Amino acid sequence: MSGHLGMDCGVFAAINLDKETVFPILYWGIRAQNHRGHQSHGFVTYDGQFHVHKALDLVPKISRENVKSWTAKLPGHIGLANVRYTTSGKIDHASLQSGTQPVIAEKNGVKLAISFNGNVVNTRQLLKEIKEVFPSFSYNCDAELICRKLLIELTEQKDIVSAVKTCMEEIEGAFSVSGITGEGKFFAFKDPYGIRPLCAGHGRNGRVYAFSSESAGLNINDLILDFELEPGEFVAASEDGFKREGLVRKGKAFCAFEFAYFARPDSRFDDKYVYEIREEFGRNLARENQDIVKDADLIISMPETGNDAAYGLHEETGLRWERATRRHRFVTERAFILLPHERFKTIDKKINVIGEKVKGKKVIVIDDSIVRGDTTRVVVEKLRKMGAKKVYIFVTFPRIVGPCFYGIDMATYGELIGSKHTPEEIAKIVGADAVRYQSIEGFVKATGMRRDELCLGCITRRYPTPLAQQLADKMYKWFIKGYKETGRIYEAVDLTETRSLCSKR
Ligand code: SF4
Repeated sequence: MSGHLGMDCGVFAAINLDKETVFPILYWGIRAQNHRGHQSHGFVTYDGQFHVHKALDLVPKISRENVKSWTAKLPGHIGLANVRYTTSGKIDHASLQSGTQPVIAEKNGVKLAISFNGNVVNTRQLLKEIKEVFPSFSYNCDAELICRKLLIELTEQKDIVSAVKTCMEEIEGAFSVSGITGEGKFFAFKDPYGIRPLCAGHGRNGRVYAFSSESAGLNINDLILDFELEPGEFVAASEDGFKREGLVRKGKAFCAFEFAYFARPDSRFDDKYVYEIREEFGRNLARENQDIVKDADLIISMPETGNDAAYGLHEETGLRWERATRRHRFVTERAFILLPHERFKTIDKKINVIGEKVKGKKVIVIDDSIVRGDTTRVVVEKLRKMGAKKVYIFVTFPRIVGPCFYGIDMATYGELIGSKHTPEEIAKIVGADAVRYQSIEGFVKATGMRRDELCLGCITRRYPTPLAQQLADKMYKWFIKGYKETGRIYEAVDLTETRSLCSKR
């Protein structure tokens, strides 16, 4: 249900070859991607030296009076921007502040700034290596790990391409990164499986080049989408345009959850708009659940991630899509981005359900995913209270049965309702008449990508990277034996330490 889950980060970066101030492009590029992270935002610009602004919360509105002071404090023609939701490190106020991106590091006069989206799996191993070179290093976020590791390699190898190549070989996890060296080299790269999105585009006059997590960050700046970075690809942008180099490719495993939930519907992946794929999810759900379609009176969606699938379901079935759920337009907090103790507070405040439209009706509710099940339960309760005769839940993302190691905030088996319950049991728990998930086959087909090009780790327990798979298997063994996880799996020191993250229930 829209409003229950944290995601990782959004990246935007740009260079203006006419040496004009890049800040306005950065600002709009990252503001268009605020849905990828609400906890903090930040900018780094470069004009021979780095200039930084970082703060908690949403990217702020900039009033006419403040434009000058913003551009004065962030001068330069190259820049990075980031919005962040923490999936690693601590989440107290001070840690959130110090974990804000982009990050800058320096060693022996060599400088580097990066903006990062993803999650490192072999955290502890990297931390050990980094502490040998930076003894006082204190870990706040994975971006710092990547930045320091890259800096160590850059200092040794003197060449950014070789340094990135070593990082790709030695860091396990998801990382889509853009960066600037102290000498003003502007670049981006993706991990060897290309798990998180990152695309490249240019301005119509050929003088601006940009990298963005989603194409919507390019659109808002009137930039033209050129390509999505390939797994293990390094791309530099300069007077010669983009220079692409494939460095370390181990496969392709693009996050399937981006299609169902995270990405903006108007962003493009693999040459398809996300909203078109979501419409197909709705059509699939209709085809796969004819029994319920025949019984139901109407469809409703919980805006907004369910809307496109609801439209597809409506098209396929002819059932009325009752637009009986409306967002309170200026209540902008998204419940998924709140910390756990805040999760329930805003659900009722954000969405208005028009009771008389569901009274006495058999309703199909389109949901993008069920993670913990708490939001779904609240919605079913609400519809029952308003007199709905039956409540069926259709879920576009297949049942989540395992944690994510790559930047999505679901790090333990214990928190996932689908890891221990069948759809029938889940229906009972949330109080629905039925819960039906889209099949994995149907989901994959709708994306237009091949199954072996997608990460389906959290819905199959088959992970693309080896350490993640080993950790997941070990932890699962403890979990089904009845042990309770007490920490994030990927924060275990090594395989033997997964046991220390469990306690007997
Ligand atoms: S495990 Fe799930 S959420 Fe995580 S990257 Fe893979 S598909 Fe995406």
